[in-house]
Amino acid sequence: MAASDAERARRYRDKQRGGPPRSPAPHGTAAAIKRHERDAEPLCDACRLERNRIQREKYAARRARS
Ligand SMILES: [Zn+2]
Repeated sequence: MAASDAERARRYRDKQRGGPPRSPAPHGTAAAIKRHERDAEPLCDACRLERNRIQREKYAARRARS
């Protein structure tokens, strides 16, 4: 199952790093969006809104330059 694979990978990374387990970034952040995409799962509402916001910013930046 994908979720348990992700769990195992996280535990492995924690062990390699030697530090305490890291809590995953909260939803609605670029990191969380990447996590959804990596796990090939649909974005939750918070992440979808954040992605829309990023896209709008990119679009505005492109428009401003040309
Ligand atoms: Zn999310």
